[in-house]
Amino acid sequence: MATPKVTPEQFASTVFDYIIVGGGTAGLVLATRLSEDPSKIVGVIEAGDWDPNVNAINIPGLCGSILGNPQYDWAFMSVPQKHANDRPVFQPREKAVGGSSMLNLLGYSRAAAHEYDAIEALGNPGWNWQEFLKYLKKTETTLPPSDIAKEQGLSPPDPKYHGDSGPIVKQYPTWFNPLHKSFLDTLEKLGVPRNADPDSGINMGGVTSFMTVDSNAVRTYSASSYYQPNAGRQNLVLLTNSKVAKINLREGTSPLRATGVDFISGEKRYTVSARKEVILAAGAFQTPQILELSGIGNKEILSKHGIHTFIGYDMARLARGGGGGVKDINPKMIYGKAQHRDTQSLAAKAQDEAKALELCRNKVRQKKLPMEVIDAEYQWDRRKLTFYFIAEKRIDFRELVRELFRLYKTRIWMASLGGTANYEQ
Ligand SMILES: Cc1cc2nc3c(=O)[nH]c(=O)nc-3n(C[C@H](O)[C@H](O)[C@H](O)COP(=O)(O)OP(=O)(O)OC[C@H]3O[C@@H](n4cnc5c(N)ncnc54)[C@H](O)[C@@H]3O)c2cc1C
Repeated sequence: MATPKVTPEQFASTVFDYIIVGGGTAGLVLATRLSEDPSKIVGVIEAGDWDPNVNAINIPGLCGSILGNPQYDWAFMSVPQKHANDRPVFQPREKAVGGSSMLNLLGYSRAAAHEYDAIEALGNPGWNWQEFLKYLKKTETTLPPSDIAKEQGLSPPDPKYHGDSGPIVKQYPTWFNPLHKSFLDTLEKLGVPRNADPDSGINMGGVTSFMTVDSNAVRTYSASSYYQPNAGRQNLVLLTNSKVAKINLREGTSPLRATGVDFISGEKRYTVSARKEVILAAGAFQTPQILELSGIGNKEILSKHGIHTFIGYDMARLARGGGGGVKDINPKMIYGKAQHRDTQSLAAKAQDEAKALELCRNKVRQKKLPMEVIDAEYQWDRRKLTFYFIAEKRIDFRELVRELFRLYKTRIWMASLGGTANYEQ
C-alpha cells in the first residue's frame, strides 16, 4: 500500500479552511473543487488506504471481486431482516481513497427529471433537474460509441445531455452478451419501448447504460479522476488510515458551530481545527453515525451512550424516516444472482449456507472462541466460503479455519465486521 503523504501529527497541527470527512466519491470531488482556490487549505481524512495500482479496482472485468475483503470494504451486516427469514444482509461499503466509486459496479445512470425537481420542491431552491444537469455534464467526458456498440443500435450521445470535457470518462460497453439485443427486442414486443437516452431526464424503458470506463479500458472514479491529477496541490492535504471519531461543536453558538474534528490514527486520538467548515462525506451509513457520535441525533439513543445532545431529533420525526428507517437495495445480492452459474438452485444454495453457518457456530461454541458468527456465504464462481463474524478483540481462529477447510475442501475466509484479524486458508 502507498505511504500517506502526511503524518497524523502534521495533519493535526494544520488549521484548515475546510475539513472533509471521508475521501470517497463525494468527498474527493468536493476536495478538488474547493482546493481550486489556492488561498484555501483543504484537509481530507479517509479511514482507508490509497493505492492507485490495484488490478481488482482498475480492471473493469474484475469489478466486484474484492467486495467483502476487509482491506477495502467495511463489509457491514444489517440487523436481521424480518422479510428475509430474519437473516442479516451483507451491506458492502468501500473503505479506501475513492470510496464506493472504487469498487462499485461501474454502471452510470441518472434519476428522472421529476425526481431532481422534487428535491427543489422540498424547499431547496436551485436543486432541480436543469441545474443538476449542468453539473452532471461538468463531471464527465462521454466517448462516442464503438463499432460494437453501434451494432447494438446505440448512437452518439446528444451533447445537450452529455459532457465532453469532465474528469469522469463514460462510454457504452465494448462487449455485449449475445442475449442483450434479444432481451431488449423481447421487451419491445411486450410493450416496453427502447429508450435511446435514459440520462435525458426520462429513464423508463429498455435501456443500455454507460459504464465509467476510460478509453484504455480502466475504471475511472473519484480517486483516479479527481484526486490523483490534483494530488500535487500544496493546499490539498489527504490523511489516510485515520478514522474521524466526532465533529467538535462549540457549545452555546447559534447556529451551532463546528470547530474541527477528533480523529483516531493507530492507537492515538488527535484534534484538528477548521476555520470555515467541516464537511461530512462519509457515506450513507457513517455520515449519520458521525453525527450521532457528535451529539446530533435522537436524544434518547445519545444519552443511553453518554453523548451530550447538541441537536436532538424528536421520536415522531424518526418514525417518519428522518434519521431512521434506512432503506437500501443490496447490489451484492442482485449481482450475486446475476453471476450465479451453478446448476444448484438458489434455495439449495441458501440451505447449504445455513448449514455451514450452523456448523461453524457449533465449532466456535466447542472451542469457546469469543466471537459471534453472523452469516455464511458461498461464492460459487470463486469457490470461496466466507463466514462473517464480530469479535471484540483479536482471536486466534487458525485451527477453526483449518477444520472448516478440511471439511469443505474449498477456500475459507473469515471476514471480521469489527476490524479484527481475518484469515484465509
Ligand atoms: C457494491 C456497490 C455497487 C455499486 N454499484 C454502483 C453502480 O454500478 N453505479 C452507481 O452509480 N453507483 C453504484 N453504487 C453506489 C455508489 O458507488 C455510491 O452511491 C457512492 O459511491 C456513494 O458515495 P459517497 O461519497 O456518499 O460515499 P463513499 O464513496 O462510500 O465514501 C465514503 C468514504 O468515507 C470513508 N469513511 C467512512 N467513515 C469514516 C470515518 N469515520 N472517518 C474517515 N473516513 C470515513 C469511507 O471509507 C469512504 O471512503 C454501488 C455501491 C456499492 C456499495
